Amino acid sequence: MRKLELHWKILIGMLLGIVFGFVMTQVDWGASFVSNWVQPLGTIFVKLLKLIAIPLIIASLVKGISDLKDISKFRNIGLRTIGIYIVTTIVAITIGLVLVNIVQPGDGISEETVAKLTETYANSEGVTKKMDEAMKQKGSGPLQFLVDMVPDNALKAMSDNSLMLQVIFFTIFLGISMLLIGEKRAKPLKDFFDSLNEVVLKMVDLIMLSAPYAVFALLAGVVVSSSDPDLLLALLKYAATVVAGLLIMIVFYLIVVSGFTKKNPFWFLKQMSPAQLLAFSTSSSAATLPVTMERVEEHIGVDKEVSSFVLPVGATINMDGTSLYQGVAAVFIAQALGFDLTLGDQLTIVLTALLASIGSAAVPGAGMVMLVIVLEAIGFPADKLAIGLALIFAVDRPLDMCRTVVNVTGDATVSMIVAKSVGKLGKPKVKNWDDHLEEVK
Ligand code: ASP
Repeated sequence: MRKLELHWKILIGMLLGIVFGFVMTQVDWGASFVSNWVQPLGTIFVKLLKLIAIPLIIASLVKGISDLKDISKFRNIGLRTIGIYIVTTIVAITIGLVLVNIVQPGDGISEETVAKLTETYANSEGVTKKMDEAMKQKGSGPLQFLVDMVPDNALKAMSDNSLMLQVIFFTIFLGISMLLIGEKRAKPLKDFFDSLNEVVLKMVDLIMLSAPYAVFALLAGVVVSSSDPDLLLALLKYAATVVAGLLIMIVFYLIVVSGFTKKNPFWFLKQMSPAQLLAFSTSSSAATLPVTMERVEEHIGVDKEVSSFVLPVGATINMDGTSLYQGVAAVFIAQALGFDLTLGDQLTIVLTALLASIGSAAVPGAGMVMLVIVLEAIGFPADKLAIGLALIFAVDRPLDMCRTVVNVTGDATVSMIVAKSVGKLGKPKVKNWDDHLEEVK
């Protein structure tokens, strides 16, 4: 019998996890059993992926830059990447805004539902925490994001996953300086990072052996901790609008992939599916990054010179799914609470959602924190902000899972376009992931 491919194994793990989670919600001790005995296995898996994210970024970025041999090539790749990222994010927000204005999900929601959601969530721990985080994020000048990007202590930056952009800054600085001192003198350091890079990729393979079981645990955990089904249902139209927007975005990527790179879009989806399924299960582009890099480099054929820069930067600043969601959520909340939005307000949403998605950390629920900043920009009164978040809180986790898939797919798409445009899209190294895993075993 033909062995199951990895993405099928992960998908089966996910489905069984969901079914198991539902069954466990039916018994009294089920939820606590899952959170005490099952979920931790998923948490360990996510921690392992995060554990290797920083060494992987450093090793592969140094390798990518020092392989370039010429700084002007790096500048070329860098500018293209940032430019394309901005364009895809604006496309995403526009799709979200057009859809939410057509569907008007906020108008259909009854006053009782608004009252019930407000009562249940406005003062809940989840919303209060998000508000606190949002307040910490703002209150700084317009150039604060640049200041935040520069670390004053490289080791401190490396010790905190939320400082990924600082690590990228430091590593690019290091890589460029290595180029400047010349190949011969930089060789010992380059050999070290090349070897580290290979070792870390092997660690990804080893961790991925447990992926099907880990996603089972993660999804069972999500199901047992999800909110009141009635409230989930009340928000169906809003959630469906976000999901429809995200699906359109995926179609957009597929068209772009086939148009620009002439590759079969379904082949692209198949190669990316393990990363997409992990993005869905973990809700974190940062945790998924090691797998995204492996898929794009080994299975799609993007050269490391491109992927080692495009993907880590993308995981932190390019969040098309998140920005689309922020656009829809902001308008939905305004509609539900009876705020009229002018065309100017909607343009403000485009701009602030662009900045907010850049500023969102690549971790679960970050997009909702930054939504507060979008709401404030359109003149939402401070005392209504928590109510706004309360309205969408019940469905935030499932939507987070979906938008993270789009975030990761967007990064992979852009890496292919950039690679193609600089002649660095080659043949994939690994044809069959299972043969590859067999080697690992
Ligand atoms: N969870 C998302 C990510 O990691 C960010 C968000 O939208 O909350 O890409």
